[in-house]
Amino acid sequence: MSENIRPCRCLLRQTGKDEIYEDIKMRISRLSEKERAGEEIYAERLEKCRECPDLSDGTCLKCGCYPEFRAAFAKNRCPVKKW
Ligand code: SF4
Repeated sequence: MSENIRPCRCLLRQTGKDEIYEDIKMRISRLSEKERAGEEIYAERLEKCRECPDLSDGTCLKCGCYPEFRAAFAKNRCPVKKW
């Protein structure tokens, strides 16, 4: 009998891939204030990703990135203009 396993529609922090998430957090902490998106903007972006059908197991299926990392850069945009 085969199981129908669907990927988690969740952010990286919710996938249990703790090593990768810690690495992403470390990389974000190295960004300058100018490079980094403000906390409120970052949270709003991730909320949109969390509701997005293209989020799969912590990865954006449109660009192949981790939204937690992509959204941390002030200059970055969602590939399908959701933020
Ligand atoms: S970056 Fe855009 S397309 Fe990718 S998961 Fe977030 S909202 Fe969806």
